[in-house]
Amino acid sequence: MAISRDVTAQVELERDLQTTANRYKALIEASATMVWRATPDGSLVESSGWGTYTGQPESAYIGYGWLDTVHPDDRQRVTTTWREIFASQAAGSFEFRTRCRDGAYRWTLTRAVPLKDASGQVQEWVGTDCDIHESRQASEAIRLQEERYRLAMLATQDAIWDWDLGSDTAEWSEGAYRLFGYDDAERADTGAWWKSKIHPDDRERVTTSIKHIIESQEHRWSDEYRFARADGSYAEVTDCGFVIRDAEGEALRMVGAVRDISEQRRANAALRASEERLRLALQAGRMVAWERDLKTGLATRSDNALQLLGIGSGPISLLLDNVHPEDRAHVERFTAYGGALSTVEFRYLHPAGPQIWLTMRAERVEAGRIVGITFDITERKLSEEQAWRAANHDALTGLPNRRLFHQRLEQALAAAERGGTSVTLLLVDLDTLRDVNDIHGHDAGDAVLREVASRLVEGLRASDTVARLGGDEFALLLTEPLRLEHAAKHAEVLLERLRQPLVYRGHRLTCTASIGLAAYPDHHRNPYDLLKDADIALYRAKAQGRNSAVVFAAEMRSQTERRVLIAAEVRTAVAAGQIVPYYQPKICFTTGAIVGFEALARWQHPEKGLLTPGYFGSAFENPELATAIGSSLIRQVAADLGQWCRCGLDPGRVAVNFSSAEFRRPDLAGDILSVLSEHDVPPARFEVEVTETVFLGHGTEVVPATLRRLHDNGILITLDDFGTGFASLTHLKQFPVGHIKVDQSFVRNVVQDQGDAAIITAVIGLGRSLGMQVTAEGVETVVQANRLSAMGCDYAQGYLYSKPMAGSRVPWFLRNWSGEAVESSRVLRLA
Ligand code: C2E
Ligand code: CA
Ligand code: CA
Repeated sequence: MAISRDVTAQVELERDLQTTANRYKALIEASATMVWRATPDGSLVESSGWGTYTGQPESAYIGYGWLDTVHPDDRQRVTTTWREIFASQAAGSFEFRTRCRDGAYRWTLTRAVPLKDASGQVQEWVGTDCDIHESRQASEAIRLQEERYRLAMLATQDAIWDWDLGSDTAEWSEGAYRLFGYDDAERADTGAWWKSKIHPDDRERVTTSIKHIIESQEHRWSDEYRFARADGSYAEVTDCGFVIRDAEGEALRMVGAVRDISEQRRANAALRASEERLRLALQAGRMVAWERDLKTGLATRSDNALQLLGIGSGPISLLLDNVHPEDRAHVERFTAYGGALSTVEFRYLHPAGPQIWLTMRAERVEAGRIVGITFDITERKLSEEQAWRAANHDALTGLPNRRLFHQRLEQALAAAERGGTSVTLLLVDLDTLRDVNDIHGHDAGDAVLREVASRLVEGLRASDTVARLGGDEFALLLTEPLRLEHAAKHAEVLLERLRQPLVYRGHRLTCTASIGLAAYPDHHRNPYDLLKDADIALYRAKAQGRNSAVVFAAEMRSQTERRVLIAAEVRTAVAAGQIVPYYQPKICFTTGAIVGFEALARWQHPEKGLLTPGYFGSAFENPELATAIGSSLIRQVAADLGQWCRCGLDPGRVAVNFSSAEFRRPDLAGDILSVLSEHDVPPARFEVEVTETVFLGHGTEVVPATLRRLHDNGILITLDDFGTGFASLTHLKQFPVGHIKVDQSFVRNVVQDQGDAAIITAVIGLGRSLGMQVTAEGVETVVQANRLSAMGCDYAQGYLYSKPMAGSRVPWFLRNWSGEAVESSRVLRLA
């Protein structure tokens, strides 16, 4: 029975074993873990789930075939580890990636345990393979997350803190201590330490605010305060934290970050200060700073734009709408491109004010952005304009001056040449402004000039120019369609208009004018030449007796050129003493005696021989030359006279001719008198001959005083060429004239022409009644002499008696002259 008991026990044991084995088998099947067995040298014998896991058939993975599914990157390591474990005969594990049934790799954990017999010899290896893919990925994710946080903490400038409220311990990020300069010794990880570092003035406020957050149900806290640095200074910080609460809302800890904003605060303050400076500078400079975004077209403007420009920030059209229409295109181009142009000036109509001038400067800072400033240059523009006006206009009349006139003339000529049109130039010279100045004062003269200016401007078009060239000279520039012939008519209209008297302080003032005209293309193209043409024509108008208009003609120029040429020759002739007086006697009709001589200028030309004024007479119209000739002649005449008298001869009175140009010299009377006294010639031996032109026109203001002074000193004043001029009889009354010479044009025909005879009779009568002597010039025949004598003429002068002779011949002539009364036809002869 013992056996049967043993058997029963054996059976039970086997059944138990079977049960246990089944239970394990079931367990293995139920678990996700694969179980395997391998030979002592590591060759896989069986696996409970490998085939299912990897899709490898059993025949493939048994032995070492399973290694084929290991990821190529892991295979070497797995093989090595696997061998090492078996060699060590101790349990081991390793992880690797396995290619699974779906082709994807999954992380797998393999553990191996040796089964040893009593002698410690390894019988076989058993082990497990677990799919750890998910957990491995999760922990990898956590590791990455932690790494990120760690790096973020390292990277941040902020001090991160984590404060356990229960234990009052605080954990600060590594950077936190560095931020405030604390080294290891000074660190303390408590909330109390933190509070102790808050500036005493801020501490109460900050601790109260954080306490309030903790006690309330709020989560977020933030504050700004000063936090002590290790060196004792304080940092300005912002601190922000979050409260972590348990399910009941009890605050457990706070996590937050402190940021040092000292630098930012300082930078902000500096920025504010510099912005303020900029604002004040812009205000002081009347400047607007702006920036334009080329993509959006919007302009941002400094605040003072509102005051200066009447607009704020916004589209560019805000500005452009107020820009003067003529400048708008400019400005638009400028604000669009910047860079290309560095500055633009334009007129701007301030919405609430007058027009102002602005300048804009800009720079393209990047492709789509232009930054610039706009500033008010109205004052500068005004003063520039004033300066320009002053430089280019005449202050009295407000007309353009000579300088601007030249510019306009040049422009007009260039335009006329381009356009095939015409330009007419009128030079207007007032005839008697000096008289007005002299008689009525300079205020009256100014009034005349202003009136003349406005009369000249009357009826002209905007394209025409009236300028005052200086003194009593004006100029008109008329452009197409006023061609020369029309301009000549216009000149006549102007003369008529200027002739009209104006009333100034109760006086009627008249100021006639002479006008010279020249035109392009009729005359010259060059402005200088055209002006010259007009000037020549003007000269002619004046020579013709003024108050007239003359159109330039080419031959005038040659005459003028000849005059200029002769002037140059005469200048040297005077200097060389080639101009000498010739003397022609004057005979008394009643006694036949010589009563005097007339000195006439002659040029002893080295090649051409003796020349009369017929050749060089134009020189007498040139003030400088006339003066030079005059001075030289007076000296020679005075010297001759002095010498004749010393020789006991009696030449009577010697007359010298003076042109009106000579009366412009400052002290003609004084000069004459002093030369006479130098040569001991009494003024009673001297006579001055003038024509009526001396009383008219330019420079006549000193004439009355000069004549008066000469007369008062005993010099006889003679009115030459009487009857040919324009002067009225009032001149005879007005000036101290003592002697009249009847012009030779009347004498020539006295016998044949009743009219001329009548004029001579009238002149003789006039002279008589005014107590003046009358001389007939140009007496060539005895018949003329008899006739004139019968008419009651006092003296005669002419070829009948003698041609003008050299001074050296006069003594001989005087000594040999024996005259008798004119009645007998024999009387006049040289003994
Ligand atoms: P005038 O003052 O009328 O002088 C008289 C002119 O008549 C002189 O001409 C004289 O030579 C000329 N003559 C005299 N008798 C006769 C005659 O019987 N028949 C003709 N056909 N002519 C006669 P001259 O010397 O050629 O002078 C011309 C003019 O030049 C003068 O006219 C005078 O206006 C001017 N002149 C001459 N010398 C001077 C001078 O020294 N100074 C100035 N300012 N003018 C002068
Ligand atoms: Ca004369
Ligand atoms: Ca004469």
